[in-house]
Amino acid sequence: SARIIDGKAIAAGLRAELKEKVEAFGKTGRTPGLAVVLVGNDPASAVYVRAKARQTVDAGMQSFEHRLPEVVSQDQLMRLVETLNDDFAVDGILVQLPLPPHIDATALLSAVDPAKDVDGFHPINAGRLATGDTRALSPCTPLGCIHLLKSVEPDLTGAHAVVLGRSNIVGKPLAQLLLGENCTVTIAHSRTRDIADLCRTADVVVAAAGQPEMVRGDWIKRGALVIDVGINRIARDGGYRLVGDVAFDEVCDRAGAITPVPGGVGPMTIAYLLQNTLKAARQRSGAAAI
Ligand code: NAD
Repeated sequence: SARIIDGKAIAAGLRAELKEKVEAFGKTGRTPGLAVVLVGNDPASAVYVRAKARQTVDAGMQSFEHRLPEVVSQDQLMRLVETLNDDFAVDGILVQLPLPPHIDATALLSAVDPAKDVDGFHPINAGRLATGDTRALSPCTPLGCIHLLKSVEPDLTGAHAVVLGRSNIVGKPLAQLLLGENCTVTIAHSRTRDIADLCRTADVVVAAAGQPEMVRGDWIKRGALVIDVGINRIARDGGYRLVGDVAFDEVCDRAGAITPVPGGVGPMTIAYLLQNTLKAARQRSGAAAI
């Protein structure tokens, strides 16, 4: 049976290390600051934003929260982003997604100063990641996935990695990071043929398709590493529960290691948000990159 990768414990360790690094950074006379912009009343987003703010403060950094009503205009949001871009105390700016449909998210995310873009969604940072520029601020969930993989297998060189999903937030940046680890990378998506056969050739499978329990046991080569990014809320046994994109019990019988949902990738995402905030603060202060 597969080794269960404990993302919760690994993330807690990472945050403890980070806290020490933040303290050391304090010798420059500054505390790293993270500004979070939350629009509207989406309950899941409110939960994420609360968790982010709490963990930011726990890591010894400053948290600035900006809550705006659902009806806020594009102009108002653009002005807020510009204010945060110009605010010396703010090292990281995070605009919580999803945004209401009347907001042009692409335009807004592109207005964030790339040096403060701790979500790594700005085209400049996507380009830096793609070209292997170490200054890149890269998306947090993919960074967390790589960390979890390396906790099991520090050298991924030559491994065939199959990424399920091609979003700008998870699939694409993850594929770039896996290339950086010298993997042979295949990106599969909703139009890919014979996904099951493709996965059977994989040493590493990362599922980020948003499809509950799509990856079955017989898709997995014996000993393969399986990272489950999916968070799906489904009705089961008269209530609701969270499941990933991987049929956990089946895949456990074949994989070498697997992440659970919850308690796998999720906690790593916030840990890397804090890590990116410190990296942004260091780069803005002219100190060496992490
Ligand atoms: P998305 O909807 O933007 O993208 C999903 C991708 O999966 C698309 O590229 C699509 O082509 C592909 N896809 C859809 N159906 C497929 C199928 N049947 N076979 C193969 N590929 C298919 O989603 P996203 O933002 O990339 O997120 C993916 C999942 O990860 C969601 O469940 C989301 O909730 C979760 N997520 C988790 C975290 C975390 O912190 N753990 C962070 C971000 C997203």
